[in-house]
Amino acid sequence: MSNAFHYTEKLICIFNAKIYNSDSETDFEWMLFDEISGYIKRIGVGKPDLSGLTISNSIDIGGQRILPGLHDSHIHVSNIGREIWSCELNNCSSIKEMQERIANYCKKNPNAEWIFCAGWEQEKLGRLPNSQDLDVISDKPIFAYRICHHIAVVNKTALKLAGYNRDIKDPEGGTLDRDSNGELTGILRENAINPVMAIVLKSISKPESLIKFLKIGLKNCLESGLTSVHSNEAASWNELCTIERNKELSIRVFMASYYSSLSKNLPKYPGEQYGNLLSCDRIKIFCDGSLGGSSAAMSMHYINDEKNKGLLLMSQDELNTAVREVTAAGYRLEIHVIGDAAADAALTALETVGVDPNKRPILTHCQILRKDLLPRMRKQGVIANIQPPFLPTDTAWLHLRLPKPLLEYAYVWKTLMKEGIVCAGGSDSPVEHWNPFWGMYDAIFRPLGSRTSTEVHKPEECLTIREAVDLYTKNGAYTTRREHDLGQLKVGYLADFVVVDKDIITEPKSLLDVKVNQCWISGICKYKRL
Ligand SMILES: [Zn+2]
Repeated sequence: MSNAFHYTEKLICIFNAKIYNSDSETDFEWMLFDEISGYIKRIGVGKPDLSGLTISNSIDIGGQRILPGLHDSHIHVSNIGREIWSCELNNCSSIKEMQERIANYCKKNPNAEWIFCAGWEQEKLGRLPNSQDLDVISDKPIFAYRICHHIAVVNKTALKLAGYNRDIKDPEGGTLDRDSNGELTGILRENAINPVMAIVLKSISKPESLIKFLKIGLKNCLESGLTSVHSNEAASWNELCTIERNKELSIRVFMASYYSSLSKNLPKYPGEQYGNLLSCDRIKIFCDGSLGGSSAAMSMHYINDEKNKGLLLMSQDELNTAVREVTAAGYRLEIHVIGDAAADAALTALETVGVDPNKRPILTHCQILRKDLLPRMRKQGVIANIQPPFLPTDTAWLHLRLPKPLLEYAYVWKTLMKEGIVCAGGSDSPVEHWNPFWGMYDAIFRPLGSRTSTEVHKPEECLTIREAVDLYTKNGAYTTRREHDLGQLKVGYLADFVVVDKDIITEPKSLLDVKVNQCWISGICKYKRL
């Protein structure tokens, strides 16, 4: 009897492979998937079982390692694209080097209205930069984010355009640094950045620029083995739809919008799936600042700043309202919490509003916690969205800023897992590099102070290679509530996978220099290394 629905299949068999099996330490050796539907039909060990099937393509993968497609559960794709396009200040080791890089960029981009830069760290520069450092480079407005995006430095022209002068008061939740005479130094913290950024964005975030940045960011993610990005985007839904409509969306994008843009540039309804690869079901709320900027909200003072406990960006009442509004609008929550006081406030809001644990609220970063917070996290169904690449960077100075009792629950990922809390891995790129293999390396080896260090920060918290892979595969899929068809390679799952040139499972040290040879999404090869 013929079926009324003529469904055509185009079956591809990949064999002679070491395919990561999320359920057991025994690798699969072959898999068979349908290029049309994108689903895995059969998978197994030994000789491929192709009985009764017509195979359109058989690929001998030469014994290479295959992993499920990798997720980055916290990333800013358009910002990555923008930073690749803009003036990069990462690893500048002096004010002079920073000035030279900006001057070079100005020369190469004579038509730029704004000089947009990012990536500096005062720890590497020797001191905080100031507006005079930038004034000598150009009269054009210059804006330069610190690597964390919670602090920026601008020149005089930019201060003027934002209407900032010595008489201006600090905005709620933000600071303008001043010298001993009360003059602005050009350093803007937290909410004080917003008015300047709003003008910058007007100049560089026209839809056509945004599409350009998104495409640059997505391409770089794909080439690093990421098949799904959970991207925090202020207002990029329409642009992402345009890219998907033009069949140019290379990987899956699970967008998270911001609470501040709750009514703008969002899908028609929460969870809308646009085409095959794009959806948005969560809204991000900021609870505190960053550790690098000493603005993460703590229950104790920073030891290098006796008066400072960091900054809660909203009062408890405001936070409760935000959580209530996002939930009422039908979205899931993603809350930025770095300090223990921020995690406490976020949990209080979830408890007060009575957010359903089945909606799996996400606490992003969770860097500094406390023992009493963990059972509350589990009870609320919280996913800890962690950033392993922060560890080598932050542990260089963490002990100089945090009091001992708070260090005890800093970056305690193994403890979280033991407590039954699902952890998902992300880079927060462009804060750190988006390479997911480096994130796995950091989760396993926890190198103290820098990725090349052989000293270990809290060895008892080191993850196994399988736990580290789970962070970026299975648990990433769980974070998107797609654990039924993404994040693992098994029958009925989508054929999202990466082929890598080293066996990272038996040689975890090779995570540092492993290369992605192929990247497949829904049974289609999207990237092949030449
Ligand atoms: Zn972020």
